[in-house]
Amino acid sequence: MNILLIGSGGREHALAWKLAQSPLIGAFYAAPGNPGIGEHAELVSLDIDDHQAVVGFCKDKAVDFVVVGPEAPLVAGLADALRAAGLAVFGPSAAAAQLEGSKGFTKDICARFNIPTGAYQRFNNAPKAKAYIREQGAPIVIKADGLAAGKGVTVAMTLDEALSAVDDCFEGAFGAAGAEVVVEAFLDGEEASFFCLCDGKTLLPLATAQDHKRVGDGDTGPNTGGMGAYSPAPVMTPDLVERTLSEIIEPTMRGMAELGMPFSGVFFAGLMITEKGPELIEYNVRFGDPECQVLMMRLKSDLLPLLHACATGTLDQVKAEWHDDPALTVVLASKGYPGSYEKNTPISALPAATSEAKVFHAGTALKDGQLVATGGRVLNVTARGTTVAEAQKAAYALAGQVDWSNGFCRSDIGWRAIARETG
Ligand code: ATP
Repeated sequence: MNILLIGSGGREHALAWKLAQSPLIGAFYAAPGNPGIGEHAELVSLDIDDHQAVVGFCKDKAVDFVVVGPEAPLVAGLADALRAAGLAVFGPSAAAAQLEGSKGFTKDICARFNIPTGAYQRFNNAPKAKAYIREQGAPIVIKADGLAAGKGVTVAMTLDEALSAVDDCFEGAFGAAGAEVVVEAFLDGEEASFFCLCDGKTLLPLATAQDHKRVGDGDTGPNTGGMGAYSPAPVMTPDLVERTLSEIIEPTMRGMAELGMPFSGVFFAGLMITEKGPELIEYNVRFGDPECQVLMMRLKSDLLPLLHACATGTLDQVKAEWHDDPALTVVLASKGYPGSYEKNTPISALPAATSEAKVFHAGTALKDGQLVATGGRVLNVTARGTTVAEAQKAAYALAGQVDWSNGFCRSDIGWRAIARETG
């Protein structure tokens, strides 16, 4: 099977690494990819926003199957354009991708299908939003409706903070994504992510994970795209897994099909485990980054038939097998991230991969043969171990072998899970 993988991050490197191990793979292309992905696939420069150019490339190269990594092209309808041209695609339609692309859309789905989530209201102007916030009081959560790269959410502990977050949105801090605002009740608890595949009819639960969004040790400092993750999430007991499926995920997938927007692809529910049980914070319509890296490290099965079954409506015919051992990933980022940072700093040595440990590339490039850091989050050092503590030890040992003077990482990825392990 000839494959085109869309994307350039650590998530896509992990997918490329797993896909390249499949005996079913033929020619393998990635657009735009990165140097890590380039070890497995031929990198091609394609304008992903030009859907017809992507279709044309697939026809030229006899591509059979397109795997779309990131959310933006899905929300923009790339999967629809490819499907209309007769190609098999892993990734939802633009209509189904609204589950991530519009927070108001998802909240309305929750209301309609009785899915547990924080109480909310949608607003398209500041005075009404502020009146509602004053009525509700703090803490309260203000969200720009559209995609804002993780920056459009303010968990406001005070009324003032909440009111100024409303102004930010309507004054254009998030562009069109902030033209509508969702105001939501604050949920208290521990967060976890629950990943599933769906082909529109059949649901295949994959695994759970937890990530670390804050830049500093002890989950302090500003938010980032994610400084590390591990899978499974120990907070997700079998009972909570069951409840999440029956109360949140199954009704959502049934509801989407009922509304004529069947979901096809991977998604994950961002959950808050509250006193009442699991409640939905958000849906994402693609693998998490860096959660994908730990999922791929734990997946025993061939990834390609799983993704292809999503695209062809045959998910009822495949099974996913997992290593019971947990996996953990540590993000190496450029000093200064998530603020400004120096670009093109040289990375001299990367340790070799084993079957249980691998350094995935996220924000790297090759400049005159030299590997350099080009992004904020640059490398994802990922390892499996018999416990989260062992996986953590292995990941940090590997991270220690990376020769990159401008890099830094958190030193406590997995702390919550390890505290549970050690009782
Ligand atoms: P990301 O890309 O970081 O997932 P996002 O823009 O898609 O962000 P959400 O996931 O909805 O936004 O919110 C980001 C974070 O804000 C959550 O991971 C959670 O920590 C916090 N949060 C969101 N909603 C609530 C809520 N109702 N109560 C408490 N915390 C919340």
